[in-house]
This record gives sequence, structure tokens and C-alpha cells, in this order.
Amino acid sequence: FRLQTRRQYFPPQHICRMADKKYLIGGNWKCNGTKESVAELVQTLNNGGDFPANAEVVVAPPFLFIDSVMQTIRPDIAVSTQNIGKNTKTGAFTGEIAAPMAKAFGLNWVITGHSERRSMEGETSAIVAEKSKIALDNGLSVIACCGEQLSDREAGNTLAVVLEDHLQAMVDAFSTEDWARVVIAYEPVWAIGTGVVASPEQAQEVHAAIRKFLSEKVSPEVSAATRVIYGGSVKGSNAGTLKDCPDIDGFLVGGAALTADFLTIINAVA
Ligand code: PEP
Repeated sequence: FRLQTRRQYFPPQHICRMADKKYLIGGNWKCNGTKESVAELVQTLNNGGDFPANAEVVVAPPFLFIDSVMQTIRPDIAVSTQNIGKNTKTGAFTGEIAAPMAKAFGLNWVITGHSERRSMEGETSAIVAEKSKIALDNGLSVIACCGEQLSDREAGNTLAVVLEDHLQAMVDAFSTEDWARVVIAYEPVWAIGTGVVASPEQAQEVHAAIRKFLSEKVSPEVSAATRVIYGGSVKGSNAGTLKDCPDIDGFLVGGAALTADFLTIINAVA
């Protein structure tokens, strides 16, 4: 009875969650938008009312729109890039955006290792870790993505891919201090843009494994403090259930981040 009473008032996730650990809700706008639609989306977010005190919100527009979004978006939404160059400095790197350039521009966040960059641009785990480390060394915070393909899951290789490949490269590259500015986004590739969201059990299983891996490979303190967010067909209608998983610390949202449903997702973590 005593346990039941305690659970009633302090559900497990609140016992485990550090008091100052906010949910991170990221909106990845991918390669979408016109000047008009971006202005409209910013307006929708700006008119969205107060966010829950335990929510930290970041949006990642395409590079072309970053300046206008930074100038017009409400101050409690941070702006991120969706990618960053591997070059450590500015100069003769046609087509790239350098981490020091992004930082000097006023950005504080970078997404690295999104599955679309891994699959379309051939970014290996080593490249993702290298880019992330360069961003960290330049004072940026990183949302570093990992996640298995459907074929990996079906072959029983989910944890081997996520932990031993994607995460291990980051663990090898980052210092213990770096982790204070790292958010891990677990995004099963089969759930991205498909409408097939991972069940809370499927997501929690991998998030808990990531937490254990960080505890063993970095430290228990880093493991407890690092936010592990889920991405893959998150919507206002499923965010509330997913956020109750003890090891889910927020969301990375694609499609729904382009609509007012993003506000529902943000408010779901209250
Ligand atoms: C994403 O691209 O990071 C993503 C999770 O997309 P969606 O929410 O559309 O599945």
C-alpha cells in the first residue's frame, strides 16, 4: 500500500528525473518551407501561449531561413542547424557551414547524425562523432541522432547498431565535460516519417539501454544528466504516453513540427 501511495504521487519517472532536467522538444523542419510558410509557422508558434516550465524548445529550419527565424521567433524557442560542416574553420570549404561560423552567428544548437544524412550523404558514425565534437569544441550544444533500420531490428541487431556503432563513436570522441552539452536523439529509422511510432515499450527499452551504456562507458552522473529524446512519428496524440516512459526526456519531431501540432507536443510534457 505504501508503494502504491508513493507511486500515485510520485510516478517512477518523477522519482528518477533530476529536478532541473527539462524535456527537450526539437522541431526538425528538414528541407521544407518558403518565405511565406516559414513566417506563418513562426507566427503560429509565437501565438502558442506559454510553454510548460519543464519544456525546452528548439527548432531547426533549413539554413536559408535561419536568419529570419532567429529574428522573428519568440525568445523561448532556440534555433538549431540540421547539420554542420566537418571543417574546423571557415575558408575554402564550398557548400559548408563551419561550427565557429554558426556560433559567431548566434546559434547554440546543432543536429548531427540524422538518419537522412547517414543514408543520403553517407555519414558514418565516425563522421557524425567528428562533426559533433567540432561543434562541441566551438561551444555549440548537440542533438546527436542514432537509431536502427527496420532490417536491423528484424535481425535482432537494434542494440548492437545503436550502442556499439552509433553511441560508441560518440563516447570515444567526447570528453566527460562535453556530455553536458549533448542530447541523444533515439530515432528508429522505421518510425521516421512513416506514421509508425515506436510503442512506449519499444522506445523505453532502447532508451534504458542507452542510459545503461552511458553509465558504464562514461559515468553514472553523465548517464543520469544526459537527455535521451525520442524521434519517429511523434504527434500530439502520442506524445503524452511516450513522455511518461522513465527514460524519455523529450522528442525530436519532423512532420508534426511543421504544424500547430508541435504546440500540442510541447504542452504534452507539462
Ligand atoms: C525526424 O525527421 O527527425 C523525425 C522524427 O521525423 P517524423 O517526426 O516526421 O517521423
